[in-house]
Amino acid sequence: MRVPLVDLAAQGAEIVDQVAPAVREAILRGAFVGGPAVTRFEQAYADYAGVRHCVGVANGTDALELALRAVDVEAGDEVVLPANTFIATAEAVSRIGAVPVPVDVDPEHLLIDPAAAEAAVTDRTSAIVPVHLYGQTAPVAELVRLADRVGVAVVEDAAQAQGASRAGRRAGTWGTASGTSFYPGKNLGAAGDAGAVLTDDAEVARRVRTIADHGSPRKYVHEVVGFNSRLDALQALVLSAKLARLEEWNERRRAAADRYDRLLAGVEEVRPPRRHPDNTDVWHLYVVQVEDRDRVLAALQAAGVGAAVHYPTPVHLSPAYEHLGHRAGAFPVAEAAAARILSLPIYPHITADQQQHVVETLVGAVAGSRTMAAQGP
Ligand SMILES: *Cc1c(COP(=O)(O)O)cnc(C)c1O
Repeated sequence: MRVPLVDLAAQGAEIVDQVAPAVREAILRGAFVGGPAVTRFEQAYADYAGVRHCVGVANGTDALELALRAVDVEAGDEVVLPANTFIATAEAVSRIGAVPVPVDVDPEHLLIDPAAAEAAVTDRTSAIVPVHLYGQTAPVAELVRLADRVGVAVVEDAAQAQGASRAGRRAGTWGTASGTSFYPGKNLGAAGDAGAVLTDDAEVARRVRTIADHGSPRKYVHEVVGFNSRLDALQALVLSAKLARLEEWNERRRAAADRYDRLLAGVEEVRPPRRHPDNTDVWHLYVVQVEDRDRVLAALQAAGVGAAVHYPTPVHLSPAYEHLGHRAGAFPVAEAAAARILSLPIYPHITADQQQHVVETLVGAVAGSRTMAAQGP
């Protein structure tokens, strides 16, 4: 049996018949960039998230960069973010010429640690970027309080958290703005690259739209130096169709996570992901921790299980960020986790048999590492 890390074909099969006529009509009408399909999706996603404005853009990295620019992050500013995240969180900061300031994560959830964020704030800090990693919502209330106290913005990275909430409020609606990604593998994925900025602030939304459209609020009026990052109509059609299924798909992810929890109960060598009591998680990833991770990963992959690691190298130890000058040991929780984390396949259409197979293979692999440890080198 083969179990992929994600199964996009099964999602596509649910929506293709509904989307095909609309795509045909858009092609025949010649409406490709912006237009009514984009406006409809933006409104629908804003309503779903519970926020006033959604601005569709080309991808999630652009969404973060645009959100940061719109809250006045400038070249030379410092932006605090977790060391355990996808590199794009830091790239969005770097592209502005601002400096990513990684901080450690909490050992339970591997999310940005508010105390570490507070300790990293200086008079050059202009924003804090909590990342809602793996489909969990980061401790945003604490970070918004901190940010208000020290006078900086909160821009959330909600790329892995479409539909997630904390204390009943959606991830991506706590800060001044948030960026999200509709990369195909995200919980809400397009048929290609796409992303969005969410905000309650009309001026922030206006700025994002302007910067993302060549700095142009009206045709051939260029207020600021911008760039091109817009949402395509064809992507908006796909996203609207998938958005209508997102709640159900996230519910199925939760059921799959519950099943993994049950199957792994009592397997001492595997530490299952923790759940924060205030959170409704959407399980973008189901991340366990094991000893001897690389060997366990190789065993899973050899058995046809598409396990992976998110992410093997914390931001500060990536070659791209060597120039920041952080040494190994700087962020011990993130670094220790990076050696132990293992993402098991999870997606709305995963079957009980597939999960059983994943866990049986995993249990066999960790038993192997226990035997090896007992035998010594
Ligand atoms: C996917 C992702 C991004 C970037 O989104 P793209 O659409 O690939 O540019 C940023 N942050 C996190 C945490 C992500 O998972």
